[in-house]
Amino acid sequence: MSSGEGRRRRDNLVPLAALISREMRIEKMDKPTVKYGHAAQSRKGEDHFLIKMDCQRVPGNSSSTFSVFAIFDGHNGNAAAIYTRENLLNHILGAMPRGLGREEWIQALPRALVAGFVKTDKEFQSRGETSGTTATFVIVDRWTVTVASVGDSRCILDAQGGAVSSLTVDHRLEENVEERKRVTASGGEVGRLSIVGGVEVGPLRCWPGGLCLSRSIGDMDVGEFIVPVPYVKQVKLSNAGGRLIVASDGIWDALSSEMAAKSCRGLPAELAAKQVVKEALRTRGLKDDTTCIVVDIIPPDNSIQPPTPPKKHNMLRALLFRKKCHDSSSKLSKKLSAIGTVEELFEEGSAMLAERLGNDYSTSQSTSGLFTCVVCQIDLAPSEGISVHAGSIFSTSSKPWQGPFLCADCRNKKDAMEGKRPSGVKVA
Ligand SMILES: [Zn+2]
Repeated sequence: MSSGEGRRRRDNLVPLAALISREMRIEKMDKPTVKYGHAAQSRKGEDHFLIKMDCQRVPGNSSSTFSVFAIFDGHNGNAAAIYTRENLLNHILGAMPRGLGREEWIQALPRALVAGFVKTDKEFQSRGETSGTTATFVIVDRWTVTVASVGDSRCILDAQGGAVSSLTVDHRLEENVEERKRVTASGGEVGRLSIVGGVEVGPLRCWPGGLCLSRSIGDMDVGEFIVPVPYVKQVKLSNAGGRLIVASDGIWDALSSEMAAKSCRGLPAELAAKQVVKEALRTRGLKDDTTCIVVDIIPPDNSIQPPTPPKKHNMLRALLFRKKCHDSSSKLSKKLSAIGTVEELFEEGSAMLAERLGNDYSTSQSTSGLFTCVVCQIDLAPSEGISVHAGSIFSTSSKPWQGPFLCADCRNKKDAMEGKRPSGVKVA
């Protein structure tokens, strides 16, 4: 063996160790800092929230940490909001397949969110309590933000450069034409409250029940077409980071998304949340429970500051930056090219479970070899499982004996939500 060969061999070995340590360094460098603030003013005591910074994808592995931020705005009491705060996260994680890497885990989230929301709704309803709640549930894993939401507690994104976008849709009958159509097609009646003399007042509501929302968790006393199936949106921020504002309608009835974002730019998260609440109260007074969580996703080297007031030529500057980096292939240019761009990874708002639970056959079998209900995660006897696609318009293209499967209970719920069987609600 010549000395040259020996050196080459060493060269092959050393870089491997160096590569691993470099990857770990990059991973550490690439990890943004997440900071948050929370503020609230209570009127009815029906707003509840959840902030959890230390969740782990892989229990015991500190590099698999992710954060959860959620708001639950209850109505007709606070039991549903409290129950959802206590159980929704566990139900979502319980619906996640085991042993996934980070990318796969992120890809599996949208479906697990749907299953977790439906399971929470089903379990709460089985307790026989009558309240309901909105749920806006945000998962931050490094630069990836996943939001699932029912009701009208909004989550907005103020990206670097001053572009404000909504990561939720409002499930309000008054404002959401698509949801009005869905509810009506499923057998609900949409109209306003009628007072003496036949005068119609207030926002559009759904009857039976009289709820203004078209989706919620709980609400066993309204029609089952008021579904717990969340709108889900997943985005990857650029490495310039951004700010999330999650808040109940106490904020959004007073401030537009742009106004809320603008009112707190330049402030650290803690002060920003207080400022947004203050601004809403100044505009409208304390008419409703008002809760706000501000989450800043901050680049690790702090070279890029949290959102500042947009400058006049921001768009042009972003274009120039992007154009400039096409000419060069350095790592720095790669970083610059991401400034001001938010990558949309996933968006789906359908209320149909068959569409939301998908065609993934591999995940419906539990470790015991039995099939499990994709919603409530209980084991099913071989004869018991009903494909989520059975009897649906999808059954022509997918085999009805293939998963994912639902237990008889969840299948009944699915049919009721889609207006395929009469709702169990007694109309007074
Ligand atoms: Zn089930």
